[in-house]
Amino acid sequence: MEMTWTPERVEILNRLFEEGLPTSEIGRRMGLTKNTIIGRLHRNGMSRRETGPKFVPQRNFFEFNGPGCLWPHGHPDDPQFHFCGGHPVPGKPYCAVHAAIAYVRPKEEKQAA
Ligand SMILES: [Zn+2]
Repeated sequence: MEMTWTPERVEILNRLFEEGLPTSEIGRRMGLTKNTIIGRLHRNGMSRRETGPKFVPQRNFFEFNGPGCLWPHGHPDDPQFHFCGGHPVPGKPYCAVHAAIAYVRPKEEKQAA
């Protein structure tokens, strides 16, 4: 049976393949035989990567609770961005220096104003 691989079909094949579906399932979804799928993948030079889970959940940047002071230096978009990393005050995410800044009471400012 002759099979025409239109750009649309190739795109669908690539997408399903990238999703990690088995060739038999790709064939079922596309209404083709497993052998047709394998043949096309082979011609494309595509092969199944056998390396671990495909999607690694991204850790929320701001939920990271490191062992050090989380006072940010620079802008998060800045390649030089880093956290202070100093020894944190117990119960606080910052070192003593930055905890003093972070938890400064606005009392004096109110009195001044
Ligand atoms: Zn710090």
